[in-house]
Amino acid sequence: MGVLSRDHHGRKKCDYSNLEFFKPYIESVYNPVFTLNELIETNQIKYKNNVLIETFSESQNEVWVKGVDLTTSSEIQFKCRKLILAASALNSTRIVLKSLKLFNRPTHFQENAISYIPYLNIRELGSELEENSYPSACFLSFYKSKLYKNALISSFYGISGPLNSDLIFDFPLSFGSSIQAMRLLKAALFIQQVFYPGDPTLSNAMRLDEAGKVHFNFKSHARGQVESEMIRLLRPLGLLSAPFLCKYPDPGNSFHYGCTLPMREMPGPLESYKDGKLFGTKNVYIGDAANFSMLPAKNYSFTIMANSMRIARLIREG
Ligand SMILES: Cc1cc2nc3c(=O)[nH]c(=O)nc-3n(C[C@H](O)[C@H](O)[C@H](O)COP(=O)(O)OP(=O)(O)OC[C@H]3O[C@@H](n4cnc5c(N)ncnc54)[C@H](O)[C@@H]3O)c2cc1C
Repeated sequence: MGVLSRDHHGRKKCDYSNLEFFKPYIESVYNPVFTLNELIETNQIKYKNNVLIETFSESQNEVWVKGVDLTTSSEIQFKCRKLILAASALNSTRIVLKSLKLFNRPTHFQENAISYIPYLNIRELGSELEENSYPSACFLSFYKSKLYKNALISSFYGISGPLNSDLIFDFPLSFGSSIQAMRLLKAALFIQQVFYPGDPTLSNAMRLDEAGKVHFNFKSHARGQVESEMIRLLRPLGLLSAPFLCKYPDPGNSFHYGCTLPMREMPGPLESYKDGKLFGTKNVYIGDAANFSMLPAKNYSFTIMANSMRIARLIREG
């Protein structure tokens, strides 16, 4: 996250209120929309809103992109020299499968499965919550379990970020007692969000049928053992929890997907070259996590941004 500590480029510095999580497009917190708007205002980019892209096709040195103008429901098409698909991993893959008419062809994908462990920090019971505390991802842990080759990475969140009204109704008490309990517990509650590494051995696959529907075959890691290990490890710090309190969202609830069109040294069908170019095409590039060759257990937006910048630079220089 990039937060302004001073006014910059017409954007005001952060006036922290701990409610930023609930406010979209706060100008002090960087969002790619700011860069996009700047590019539009300085005529460096033409932005077409409300268009659903469906397919691309290539002729000699041109790529034709077809879609639907959602305001008029009419067909629309564009011509370009190079196409960078960046509609997020699964949407880009859907466009590729439809364009190449690879219906019902399963393509592998990876997901970071997640789990949540709640903790009670007994040292903070009854403490006043600092108004200006920052509850999101207060600290990170890297954990190497014997069960997984790669590290599991997790972030710890305080619960001062959510609105009191979101939490109060989860207490199994009357309204008045819930407010009392909240005062006592709020500074003492933590949640650990654990990300699992993507696993190429799981048979996660997506396919597109001829009617345009996407089908997913989702598998997830068996979870539970790592959480028990972590709970045991953190107990000496005064963080109390129990395995039965952990939550294991179903496969598909993760925020991180990718590896559907992975970059390879020597790519084949439904894979990409190292410069992001899709195998079998002349001028079509993948600019999002579809081209990741692996999915480590971590937040990956900055990696997507860095990789797409690298690909765009290579295209410009090429
Ligand atoms: C609740 C939540 C919390 C998250 N927290 C974090 C975090 O803390 N840190 C982090 O690193 N990541 C986080 N992520 C993940 C992050 O949002 C993604 O990594 C990031 O948005 C991916 O960027 P992207 O540009 O590839 O895709 P997107 O941001 O999804 O952008 C794709 C764009 O393409 C458009 N599009 C899709 N299909 C088409 C089409 N056919 N035609 C035209 N346009 C199309 C979409 O409307 C969208 O505007 C979170 C995600 C969620 C849902």
